[in-house]
Amino acid sequence: MQYNAITFVKRPTAEITPDIFERVTLQTPELKDDEFLVKQTHMSLDPAMRTWMMDNEESYIPPVAIGEVMRAYGVGEVVESKNPAFPVGARVVGITGWAEYVLGGADMQIVPQDVPVEALLCALHVPGLTAYVGLFEVLRPKAGETLVVSGAAGSVGSLVGQMAKAEGLRVVGVAGSDEKCRWLVDELGFDAAINYRSANLAEQLAEATPNGIDCYFENTGGPIQQLVYSRMNRFGRICVCGMISDYNRETPLPGPNWMDINLKALRVEGFVIVDHYDKAPKAVETITGYLQKGQLKYRAHVLEGLDSAIDGINLLFNGENQGKLLVKF
Ligand code: NAP
Repeated sequence: MQYNAITFVKRPTAEITPDIFERVTLQTPELKDDEFLVKQTHMSLDPAMRTWMMDNEESYIPPVAIGEVMRAYGVGEVVESKNPAFPVGARVVGITGWAEYVLGGADMQIVPQDVPVEALLCALHVPGLTAYVGLFEVLRPKAGETLVVSGAAGSVGSLVGQMAKAEGLRVVGVAGSDEKCRWLVDELGFDAAINYRSANLAEQLAEATPNGIDCYFENTGGPIQQLVYSRMNRFGRICVCGMISDYNRETPLPGPNWMDINLKALRVEGFVIVDHYDKAPKAVETITGYLQKGQLKYRAHVLEGLDSAIDGINLLFNGENQGKLLVKF
């Protein structure tokens, strides 16, 4: 059977442009023992894709090779199988690719049919595990503390802020538009939100964090980073989850001076979820609890069709995505 896929043909040096991809028609393979074929129904578009395009062999995952089908996470249905653990009709989630059909991989997991696909991709799978690990394993917040999260209206950031609210923290979000800031305060219950594109950022941050900042969940980098850093309290924690403002730059911006880490005894810690898959069951249980209590909302921004990914991925970088960016096939 023939199917459509998109391969990666050129490494970008700045923004993602359509010429780095090529549309191709491929043939589904004859299955060998233990293999299964998945028809993808929903694909996740993630900022990490830009880092997978970099020629960086030292990253947590090998770069996508030139000529390879572009890597993605996704959900699909098993349509052919020579693997009894993945029977025809099962719904799976895991690493797929920019393609209508993919061979099942070792990381794939079966997901019950009654879990809504948006709940899975927006809250329970990658964004949820990321928010859970960054918040509870790295920041280890205490009720009454103040947490600031950048990229706050995005899929990870919005979960982090709501989970921190549920744990009794004062939560301040940083996002790129007044509309997103209103959504954070009015709909998600953040205590305050700051538009990083507005004037007087330092004053706004000081007003929103009268007791200083104990926990910073960093999703973006950019100018807000220096301002947050200088308001950190003694024994504060900084979780470096993502630096999207640097992904399109050939040379990342310089970070803050280390003096505060020393004098305020700060802990600054990066993480990537591939090192934390063992926490997934606990994360799913915790997030399911928040969802059941109505403490966690999410929104999906759904594009239609494989080709929409080529331009659509840039919505993540210009901030026009309104929630978790997905492609529906
Ligand atoms: P997302 O927040 O849903 O979408 C990306 C958002 O980033 C955009 O909507 C935009 O929002 C913001 N942004 C883009 N360029 C920016 C810039 N120059 N400065 C400030 N903000 C900018 O994406 P996500 O999937 O939740 O990912 C958020 C971050 O977490 C990313 O850095 C990603 O790489 C990271 N991440 C890390 C892990 C891990 O394992 N460590 C796992 C998943 C995600 P505004 O309108 O607010 O600008």
